[in-house]
Amino acid sequence: MKSLDQIAAQLQGYDPQALRADAVGEFLARLVEPVTDRERVSLFDAGGRVLADDLISPISVPPHDNSAMDGYAFDGAQLQADAPLDLTVVGTALAGKAWTGRVGPGQCLKIMTGAIMPAGLDTVAPQELTQPAGEARIRIPPGILRAGDNRRFRGEDLMQGQPALAKGTRLGPAACGLIASLGLPEVDVLRRIKVAYFSTGDEILSLGDAPREGAVYDSNRHTVRALLARLGCELIDLGVVRDEPIALEQAFTRAAAQADAIITSGGVSVGEADFTKAMMKQLGDVAFWKIAMRPGRPMAVGRITSDGRAAALFGLPGNPVAVMVTFLAFVRPALLRMMGAQPEPMVLLKAHSTERLRKKPGRTEYQRGIVRAAADGTLQVSITGNQGSGVLSSMAQANGLIVLHHAQGDVAVGDEVDVMMFEGVV
Ligand code: AMP
Ligand code: MG
Repeated sequence: MKSLDQIAAQLQGYDPQALRADAVGEFLARLVEPVTDRERVSLFDAGGRVLADDLISPISVPPHDNSAMDGYAFDGAQLQADAPLDLTVVGTALAGKAWTGRVGPGQCLKIMTGAIMPAGLDTVAPQELTQPAGEARIRIPPGILRAGDNRRFRGEDLMQGQPALAKGTRLGPAACGLIASLGLPEVDVLRRIKVAYFSTGDEILSLGDAPREGAVYDSNRHTVRALLARLGCELIDLGVVRDEPIALEQAFTRAAAQADAIITSGGVSVGEADFTKAMMKQLGDVAFWKIAMRPGRPMAVGRITSDGRAAALFGLPGNPVAVMVTFLAFVRPALLRMMGAQPEPMVLLKAHSTERLRKKPGRTEYQRGIVRAAADGTLQVSITGNQGSGVLSSMAQANGLIVLHHAQGDVAVGDEVDVMMFEGVV
């Protein structure tokens, strides 16, 4: 485990007081380690989990050559370029039942999708492309089929002994189906990571508290909780913690004793006259960053230690929109790495801005946007109103974040911009 100073020394141009947003990922990737503990889970509970090993196919899928269509199976060598082919139907092969007869020259077999292709037959004429040609005879017009058409090969999906899924795959719906197609009822996955989170600040109310002057309800904890739940983390909710040394110390040590990562919000900005930063420093190895970005400039990162056990710390700013932006941009990729997941490149959509956007070069800006398809099918993005970093309603209306990169300047109407879509991420 490297100290923050050691990590910093490995990175070129690291400046905690003016850190580029696109440099944060590299730092955090060196700060956190993937978990290695594993467990075997039922496939019914495997969705979202991370595969512990490469998965090798124990069988071939499909297990035999079979028909891709309802139609007539025959030996494709009989096809001629300029003449129809007339064939006598000698039987019917249904899916799931082996057909044991013989099909000779001039003959074919009525076959259903998924039924085994008998030996010697390699082509299927789809039912709708054939014409009746008398009692138990069909005609295949010339020029519509090539030998080998509409046959699926044994193992064309997965071949026995070949890797089916790579270690570190997050199991989505297709992967779960694929594992089932191999006949596997259970799968080895990495253990889930435990994430403790709490909100800080004397002005923060928990749900159920009576409103009082100057106080606001804690939205951050609920946003963070929902973000973590989507990642499949084990959640340790430590509530709202008062800005008092004892309360903060207890929260941090409890968190570090149980969790792999700690996420806090609030109390990390420059002007804070509070104990949050001091306690982070006291209990761990923590850097306080000013990131060249908007929203979300201040952030604390590092490790908190309790009884010799260390947990990664992500001290997010207090503003609700900054919490979400810093989580999506920095914390999420770091947690995925801790979960043992393969790095997933952030796929950004390109959309034309419907408005002019002011942007200062020299920092990364995130704006809440709604992407729609224009009448001509191209994608357009509009900002969702008030972009203040405390305004959650415009975040709730958005379906993505417009990412205005570090060196980028003003955006004119119609310019293409990058958008990080929430669906699939949030
Ligand atoms: P701070 O980073 O602590 O200076 O907080 C910045 C702003 O975010 C202040 O207006 C806080 O009241 C607000 N804030 C901090 N934590 C929360 C929270 N958990 N829920 C809602 N707003 C918060
Ligand atoms: Mg505060």
